[in-house]
Order: sequence, then C-alpha cells, then structure tokens
Amino acid sequence: MQQETRAVVIIGSGPAGYTAALYTGRAGLNPLVYEGDQPGGQLTTTTTVENYPGFPEGVAGPELMDRMREQAARFGAEIRSETVTRVDLGQRPFLVQAGDETVRAASIILAMGASAQHLGLESEKKLTGHGVSTCATCDGFFFRGKRVVVVGGGDSALEDALYLAKLAASVQLVHRRDQLRASHIMQERVAREPKISILWNSVVEDILDVSQGKVTGVRLRDVKTGRVQTVECDGVFVAIGHAPNSQLVAGQIDLDEHGYIRTQRGSATSVPGVFAAGDIQDPYYRQAVTAAASGCQAAMDVERYLQGSAYQDWGKGEAGGAGRP
Ligand code: NAP
Repeated sequence: MQQETRAVVIIGSGPAGYTAALYTGRAGLNPLVYEGDQPGGQLTTTTTVENYPGFPEGVAGPELMDRMREQAARFGAEIRSETVTRVDLGQRPFLVQAGDETVRAASIILAMGASAQHLGLESEKKLTGHGVSTCATCDGFFFRGKRVVVVGGGDSALEDALYLAKLAASVQLVHRRDQLRASHIMQERVAREPKISILWNSVVEDILDVSQGKVTGVRLRDVKTGRVQTVECDGVFVAIGHAPNSQLVAGQIDLDEHGYIRTQRGSATSVPGVFAAGDIQDPYYRQAVTAAASGCQAAMDVERYLQGSAYQDWGKGEAGGAGRP
C-alpha cells in the first residue's frame, strides 16, 4: 500500500496553525493540518476579540477562527479534524499518526498551543465567557468601571491585576497563600496601585451566580481559619498558569523547564525540519496576533528548509503527496 507523504504537516489549529497553513498553502506545499480536539484553539472560547488588527468593530473569537480556516483552505490546505496521537521525530521522513492514519512528513510545524489552567469548578465552566475569563488583555475592556476578582499569586495574576486596575473600579486579588509567587518588581507595582487589594490565604469555593447566567460574586474560604465569605464582583479572571500542550513531543525535542518548546532563529526547534509556532513556544506574549505572526515565520522557515533538503519536490505533487518514500 502506498503511504501518504507530505511536504509539511501542521499540528494544531489556532492562529499559529492556520496562518502556517495559509502561507505554506500559498507556497504550493499542499499542507496537511490536523486540527485536534479543539478546532480553532483557545480563541473559540472567547467572546469578542477587539485587539486583532483589521477588525475595528471587533470580531467574535469563533468567527475569526472560522475565517482563518477558510482562508487557509482556499489556498490548498487540507484540514482534517483528527487528533495526532503520536509523532516519531527520530526517523526521516517524520512519522505522524492520527488514530489509524499514518502520514510521512518531510517537515512538521508544531502549533498545539497552550491551555489555561482552571480552578476546576462547575460554576467556572458554566460562566466562562459570561464574566469568567482567563485572559485579561482579551476581556478586560468589558469590565470598565466594574469590580473584578483575579485569582492567583504569580506574575500572570499580578500582571492581569495591574492591567485591569487601569480599567476596572476595583481589583481584588485572591491568593491561596500568605506570600506571592510573583517577582519582587511586580509585587512592588501592585503594592503601589491603590485599586488593588489582596485577599490572602483564600481559595475560591464557588463563583456566583450560575442561575442568573452572570458573575455576581465569589464564595471564598480562608484556608487558615475556615471562614467563608462572599465577595461581590462582576468578573473573575483566573490566572493560575498555563500549560503548553507539548506532551506529544516530550522526550523528542528540547523543552524548557515549564514544558514550552525551545525555539531559536524564528521557529527552529532542536530537531532540524521540525518548527514550532504560537503559544506552545511562547510563555510570554500569548496573543492571537503574535501566534499568527509566528505561524507565518514557521511557514517561511519550512519553505527554506525544504529548498535545501532531499524532499524539495514533495510539495509539488498533488495534495496527498506523490508517495515517494
Ligand atoms: P505561576 O508562576 O506558576 O503562578 C501560578 C499561581 O497560581 C501561583 O501563585 C499559584 O499558587 C497559583 N495557583 C496554581 N494553581 C492554583 C489553584 N488550583 N488554585 C489557586 N491558585 C493556584 O504561573 P504564571 O503566573 O502564569 O507565570 C508563568 C511563568 O511566566 C513564570 O515563570 C512567570 O514568571 C512568567 N511570567 C512573567 C511575567 C512578567 O515578568 N511580567 C508575566 C507573566 C508570566 P502558589 O503560589 O501557592 O503555588
């Protein structure tokens, strides 16, 4: 049986994956995109995106992703809804497996993104997009003049709190210990911001009020005294860390101590021919526009890589590859 071969396989379908697909598609490389279990990525869980250039009125997250998908498909990207279950970067061409399907790839773009950590409350799930958010830069604007709670004690939580303090009427930082994890400089900035107050030793037991379909407050428990109190607020920002979705390549590629793929010179990873784009290699900016830009970089890096490789003709065959080993 002839095995399917590809010049480039893109794993992941957020702004990074679709932009990489658009560029490699336009370059005539017939990219194959595996969308994974959350087609469109994190943006499909947000409401309006107001900071993506070109949409002065804002655009719904899911719509933005649909449009990116459509644009990639228009230039020849083949998009499959399967999830990649295994890659073997030790053999060449690389092996990509999605369930029963196996594809050989001359190059790979890893764009599986990162997932925000959640508190794990049922109310948090139900009110996400209705007052609960994991992205202050995306959703802070909707809380102008309102009261918000930020959960977490790391740099992200403090950065979110400082960002929100510019917009909201008040920001209450809820942290589970009596000491912040964040860097000293961020702690100093927070201490100087009069709109921010800190509720120490507190965990969120519940977010209110699911029956009203919007956030009206949080129920907190003091872990030292056991005291339970309700704090009224209009929004809850959960900032307890992100986890990169790099499990698929762990052990095969260089990752940093938090599991993010290490890249250099644009999108190159420690394995020649394997490139990474978007949040999976970016613990810092994590924006749709920066992810899209790095998807573009990865596509251009792939093109250059293939030009100098034994596989340079692979992309020129019909979609699905020419079956050359
Ligand atoms: P992080 O440093 O891992 O901090 C996560 C925070 O959330 C910790 O305070 C942790 O509490 C708390 N937390 C974790 N799980 C929780 C749970 N289930 N319930 C309640 N609280 C929970 O993550 P991060 O803040 O996203 O930062 C990630 C990395 O990016 C760090 O290296 C950070 O320095 C860097 N970063 C830097 C900047 C900057 O320099 N401006 C901005 C953003 C991120 P404990 O402290 O008790 O563990």
